Amino acid sequence: MITFSVKIKTIGLMCVGWSHPSAAGCDIPFTRVLRKKGREYSYEIYIPGSSFKGSLRSATSRIATPYGFKSCGEISPEGIERAHSSGGVCDVCELFGYPKGSVPSKLLVSDFEPVNHMQMFEMTRVRIDDQSMKAAEGALFTLEYVPPGSVFSGNISVREENPRLLGLLLLGLAELRIGRFGRASIIDLMIEDEAPLREKLERDWLVLLEDLRRWLWE
Ligand SMILES: [Zn+2]
Repeated sequence: MITFSVKIKTIGLMCVGWSHPSAAGCDIPFTRVLRKKGREYSYEIYIPGSSFKGSLRSATSRIATPYGFKSCGEISPEGIERAHSSGGVCDVCELFGYPKGSVPSKLLVSDFEPVNHMQMFEMTRVRIDDQSMKAAEGALFTLEYVPPGSVFSGNISVREENPRLLGLLLLGLAELRIGRFGRASIIDLMIEDEAPLREKLERDWLVLLEDLRRWLWE
């Protein structure tokens, strides 16, 4: 098992939506978890590991083929199953797991906790009707954001020593810095404590690893 740390920094506004509308009247609040601080409990913001992993899977799926990896290009469990109904899985599914249990995910992603204090704020948006390209009726909704420059920290563990798939994982992380995260947010990302990962990587990937040890958007 190889573990390394990952830091995420928001470039623009970021909302990782939660399905629980809060009593405060915000339609899409940022994800929170109940934490005990001293004798008090409070809801603290965080990014669920599953949200990060979902975005990372999409990014990896986009970047895999141009670099010679196999990708079925599917994200939904049904789509993946259909793509691999005749047996065998692509490289992306081998790394991220295959829904029917035969191929468990080799990636474990922790939740991401805030590193600095974040002044949350809400903004009202207008939902646009896809057909008419005009504001849909009754389409105002409120999202809760963290401001640009917010940093979250978590870690990724890989149950895989196959250097090829580790290279694919690096590609996915690099792609995540220029793609989308959550609700159309842009994030920067950097890797820390990467020594165990470096040991297993093929030489060709070391340049990319060095690149991922620094913020991209600085
Ligand atoms: Zn696949």
